[in-house]
Amino acid sequence: MSRFNVKKVAVLGAGVMGAQIAAHLVNVKVPVVLFDLPAKEGPKNGIVTKAVEGLKKLKPSPLGVVDDAALIQQANYEEHLELLGECDLVIEAIAERMDWKLDLYKRIAPFVAEHAIVASNTSGLSITKLSEALPDAIKPRFCGIHFFNPPRYMYLVELIKTPTTEPKILDDLETFVTTALGKGVVRAKDTPNFIANRIGIAGMLATMKEALKFGLTYDVVDDLTGKKLGRASSGTFRTADVVGLDTMAHVIKTLQDNLNAKTDPFYESFATPKVLSKLLEMGNLGQKSKAGFYKKVGRDILRFDGDSGEYVPGGEKADEVYGRMLKKPAGERLKLLRSSEGAQGQFLWSILRNSFHYAAVHLASIAQTARDVDFAMRWGFGMKQGPFELWQEAGWVQVAKWIEEDIAAGKALSNAPLPEWVFKGPVAEAGGVHTAEGSWNPTSKKFEPKHVLPVYSRQLFPEAVLGSNATDWQSAGKTLQEDDALRLWTLDDKVLVATLKTKMRAISMEVAEALQQAVEIAEKDYQGLVVWAGDEPFSVGADLQAMLTGMVGAGMGMVSQAEEFLQQTMLRVRYSNVPVVSAIRGMALGGGCELAIYSSKRVAAMESYIGLVEVGVGLVPGAGGLTYIARRAAENQAKSAHKDLLPFLTEGFTSAAMAKVGTSAIESRQLGYLLDDDIVVPNKDELLYVAINTAKAMFDAGYRPPHKRLFPVIGRSGKATIMGQLVNMRDGGFISAHDFHIATLVANVVTGGDVDAGTLVTEEYLMALERAAFCELLQNTKTHERIMAMLSTGKPLRN
Ligand code: NAD
Repeated sequence: MSRFNVKKVAVLGAGVMGAQIAAHLVNVKVPVVLFDLPAKEGPKNGIVTKAVEGLKKLKPSPLGVVDDAALIQQANYEEHLELLGECDLVIEAIAERMDWKLDLYKRIAPFVAEHAIVASNTSGLSITKLSEALPDAIKPRFCGIHFFNPPRYMYLVELIKTPTTEPKILDDLETFVTTALGKGVVRAKDTPNFIANRIGIAGMLATMKEALKFGLTYDVVDDLTGKKLGRASSGTFRTADVVGLDTMAHVIKTLQDNLNAKTDPFYESFATPKVLSKLLEMGNLGQKSKAGFYKKVGRDILRFDGDSGEYVPGGEKADEVYGRMLKKPAGERLKLLRSSEGAQGQFLWSILRNSFHYAAVHLASIAQTARDVDFAMRWGFGMKQGPFELWQEAGWVQVAKWIEEDIAAGKALSNAPLPEWVFKGPVAEAGGVHTAEGSWNPTSKKFEPKHVLPVYSRQLFPEAVLGSNATDWQSAGKTLQEDDALRLWTLDDKVLVATLKTKMRAISMEVAEALQQAVEIAEKDYQGLVVWAGDEPFSVGADLQAMLTGMVGAGMGMVSQAEEFLQQTMLRVRYSNVPVVSAIRGMALGGGCELAIYSSKRVAAMESYIGLVEVGVGLVPGAGGLTYIARRAAENQAKSAHKDLLPFLTEGFTSAAMAKVGTSAIESRQLGYLLDDDIVVPNKDELLYVAINTAKAMFDAGYRPPHKRLFPVIGRSGKATIMGQLVNMRDGGFISAHDFHIATLVANVVTGGDVDAGTLVTEEYLMALERAAFCELLQNTKTHERIMAMLSTGKPLRN
């Protein structure tokens, strides 16, 4: 069987979703052509051009590197339909109207390549009905591909087949979406709004209804239904504002239009909330129109008052007692909430009960297994656990009884009984829907494992639902040594894996020591060393608190020694005899960035944020970061025809002096923290697989560490040029006096200090300059203020 090979993708529709899907394809290096209607005036590609320009301004950025917007090929249906013939996948994302979509399918059908997959991103239209308009030749290659907004960041993609979709097509698409686009695929049945939006929007409507019933304000509801409940921090109403109240109304309408009291016994609660209609009438669509359930006025966040139609002061918080209850183990938590007398506790129990009730009643019709529901809710709605997981954790049978009692007492949203499988047979016996064997499929009446596709062998520790007994990466493999700082382990006896265990994976002295030992062991018995963890961050750098305490307790001499030890650790990593591969995901800041850049190679998840941020806390990178910048500049200059070192240095200097952090792996590469031949991995769960294989391939290719070379620095003349610019920035009021002072020290290190241009230096020489600058700053009160501000507020202070 030949492999599905995606050389190019066409996206039809350059609206909110189409343009962002195109951007994400660019991020993951898939060539893309973006179509829209021909513009009535001006250049025919006008609509697409405007959409592509819009991508550059959107926050959070749909593009890994903003300038890459230029890589999106622009097209319109009047002039460029023949371009479709080059595409292996066509994603339709035009406005949500069945008649418009069908017209477009007729128009494009003659141009679509014979093998290409055609998929619709519709949120709620029937995929089967859409497919019926297609020629018979395309029908087997047609399905639904439902991305979530914003598509770069939302992990979930639902795939939906029709009765005529060829099974291999869906497998091919799932493989591509998983590994090339880096998404989590859930297969959904062809029912209105599919899985996540069906359960999620029903949940939001139910929450709004219960909030009204219990007389709670939006602020309190959001406080209760955000992080405290293990859900997206924006809670309920602020999430609606972020999504857009018009979009939300649209999804609600799909539910209202396509369901009825017979097909969905909760139908009555899908009525559009009065307050939502009122806001829509006022044109207050949420964040995009700067007013919705909330409105920001100056520094204050006001909330809408449905009765008066005015915005009133907000900020009310939930009762602390419920915050404490929500921290209890699941069974106790639910029991306390259910028996609590206060409105907030009753509200919380009610919305949880509704979510269990709704998910159980609809499981058989919308999804294949309970796992698909839980993954859809985690990946599409930012929940820590899906409804079935929480129910199971809290005690399946007990919770089921409570729901039954509430239904009987008329407290539930619908009197639809729980399905029989909840109480009788394998689920009740197993104490839940997820077991080691698999997750419950109410149709086949079996626990079914996740379907097997070769692509999933690239996920060594895939996400798993509670109760599935999946191997935990924190204890997996053979452990060689482990303490509070680091676990050293192996999966295959060939490559050693080092997992940092400190808070936020800070690089402490113990971590540095353990890393040195890891290199030692890897050199002796293994093909390579991979630094990896199964979640974020990679490492946020040095432990500031410990550093300050150390300085007070032991004095500057000790700090300098500690810095030297960190620097030696980085050099030990760089000159290791076997490859050290840093597998980065999330933040790699300060010392974390230094560990990455001193590794032999980096394998980074697309969502990696790398940078030397020390200036933000009034310090300079002190574990080799500045030395790296000077060396890279010399190496880059040596490869170029330019004689002048300064332009090569300026980039690195600016990144460090301004504490720049890449907003994606590809932007981190532009800042010089990833190299051209480092690997960017779209799917976070494939990182370890790629890193281990990279280490093995490097070993097999006869890896030797780089030579220890002398390299030229630009010296005092280059420093003078940089200083000239810094003086202008200070005098122009762009940087503070302390910024100026720190930048001067950065400039002194990266230029090599008071030496002639072209002087050859060693890494150790520059590292001594780094240490001196670092120790000087650590005694500066302005730096202390910055560190204290970071420790107490988490935000940099510019003093
Ligand atoms: P949008 O309104 O932002 O963009 C729709 C695009 O379709 C526009 O660029 C418009 O020029 C084009 N268009 C309009 N009429 C057309 C026609 N007759 N023929 C061809 N093109 C036409 O819409 P959107 O929010 O990007 O949604 C697009 C699709 O994605 C819809 O099916 C929607 O249900 C789905 N979706 C939306 C979201 C979301 O959050 N917005 C999320 C997931 C899926």
